[in-house]
Amino acid sequence: MDCIFCKIINNEIPSKTIYEDEIVKVILDINPNADGHMLIIPKNHIDDFTKLDDNTLLHINKIANKMKDLIYNKLDNIKGLVLLNNYGEFQEVKHYHLHILPNGFNTKTKEIDEIYNELIS
Ligand code: 5GP
Ligand code: ZN
Repeated sequence: MDCIFCKIINNEIPSKTIYEDEIVKVILDINPNADGHMLIIPKNHIDDFTKLDDNTLLHINKIANKMKDLIYNKLDNIKGLVLLNNYGEFQEVKHYHLHILPNGFNTKTKEIDEIYNELIS
């Protein structure tokens, strides 16, 4: 299947990876809308949120909680997060992913490399 997120999961396309385990990979969005905009992507190809199984959904929520701690610990002046799923015509990549937007929409101030270094330091 010609899926860009499957290629990222398989390391055929590079990504700025924040966290990885046997079920998910967390990467920085290539076109961030916020500093630290990240995507939690299940390693299995799942088209969208309607196809998510309970175990994967539960795990994604646990990892979102873990990423919340990382964001609050590593980035300055975090006031809150937006967690977001797109679906249908609003979903560009048809491999399920949960967006995490620290401080919400249109809040990007820094280059992605700088934020990556802050998050992994
Ligand atoms: P959605 O499918 O929810 O509309 O959004 C897809 C998101 O994936 C977009 O925010 C887009 O910037 C991001 N994206 C698309 N292609 C790549 C890629 O190759 N690498 C990374 N890191 N993000 C990507
Ligand atoms: Zn895929």
